[in-house]
Amino acid sequence: MKKVVKFGGSSLASARQFKKVGDIIRSDKARRFVVPSAPGKRSDKDEKATDLLYQCYDAAAEGRSYKKILEKIQERYMEIIDGLDLNLNLDHEFAAIEENFLNKAGRDYAASRGEYLNGIIMAEYLGYEFIDAAEVIFFNEDGTFETEATNKELGERLAHVDKAVIPGFYGAKHDGTIKTFSRGGSDVTGSIVAKAIHADMYENWTDVSGFLVADPRIIKNPEVIETITYRELRELAYMGASVLHEDAIFPVRKEGIPINIRNTNKPDDKGTLIVESTCRKPNYTITGIAGKRGFCSINIEKAMMNAEVGFGRKVLEVFEKYGISFEHIPSGIDTMTVFVHQSEFEEFEQSVIAGIHRAVEPDFVELESDLALIAVVGRGMKATRGTAGRIFSALAHSRVNVKMIDQGSSELNIIIGVKNADFETAIKAIYDIFIMTEA
Ligand code: ASP
Repeated sequence: MKKVVKFGGSSLASARQFKKVGDIIRSDKARRFVVPSAPGKRSDKDEKATDLLYQCYDAAAEGRSYKKILEKIQERYMEIIDGLDLNLNLDHEFAAIEENFLNKAGRDYAASRGEYLNGIIMAEYLGYEFIDAAEVIFFNEDGTFETEATNKELGERLAHVDKAVIPGFYGAKHDGTIKTFSRGGSDVTGSIVAKAIHADMYENWTDVSGFLVADPRIIKNPEVIETITYRELRELAYMGASVLHEDAIFPVRKEGIPINIRNTNKPDDKGTLIVESTCRKPNYTITGIAGKRGFCSINIEKAMMNAEVGFGRKVLEVFEKYGISFEHIPSGIDTMTVFVHQSEFEEFEQSVIAGIHRAVEPDFVELESDLALIAVVGRGMKATRGTAGRIFSALAHSRVNVKMIDQGSSELNIIIGVKNADFETAIKAIYDIFIMTEA
């Protein structure tokens, strides 16, 4: 049994957290490959090591004073080393970092030092081998991740290693330049390592006990989702539910490796298991609810639209021309509505409307702004009758006016459009009807 275990910044923010992580790793022999993040926040007001590194680099590269920030970073690592009673001196590492900052080694290099140093400490603390991610995770010249070369190199390198620490978040281009993934990218590294070694499980340790059925800022103490499929997760993540980096799904998904989201502060909680498919019955008809505010709709009407071949394409080409991606396109016989992100649309609003007029000569075009979309997601919906009925009667009882309904052909989700102002009320109503009444 081989497990890749990734620990997020809050799990490694202090010596105290490191000790919890050490206990977790030692309690299971399968936890052989460890991917650490950089030290995160110890409290709400604290700063992440990654953010300090960016600040420090910017100051050094622009010729401003940077020493104080560098000292602050050094102190954070010293606190961990001392708290763990390690006999480790990072002075030469910091000297190299300072020199490279002054030589403008790049912001990615700067940020990557957070996980690099934490990886060295972690390897020392556990007695595991340290493998610099720059030697095994590769990026193309254009900055995109190089899947094949990485998979081959990592696989070969780790085949002969019993236990190792591979820092998250970064890798290198072939000329040695350090490159990072986008923020939160240690999740991606964990997934890449899990794929390369054909792990049985990718454990992603964080500070929550898994994915929640709904946003805790809207629903008080929502239930934890026990098992979720990759597809369900994509739907929820797209609509704003975040715990895991979006790109972390793809490498393991292709290999059928499950991801287990776990809580470092509550290691006995089972967390959420993310799988390709499962026979396990979900606890409720729906798996989760997520949503976003800030959409607008462009409603286009034209008599006999239904007979005009190519109408939809011509309309969408106008959006394409301005680089605006559409979210949903519900249509009627003589109407077509395009939902877009308000922030993407606003700048080009008048040009898009003019473009639509030129392209398809509609009878009229109407805009509605300040809309929210809510996704109700669940593999259980396919086999259950009346899900949509329950959603809409719950919304009607809560006096929420439904502006749009879209059930994906996968029968995995129902998307509902409401006014921004009704967003929270709608989510509460849906949560109540499925979770509270089925519990
Ligand atoms: N340390 C990086 C960040 O703060 C990457 C990570 O934590 O995954 O975004």
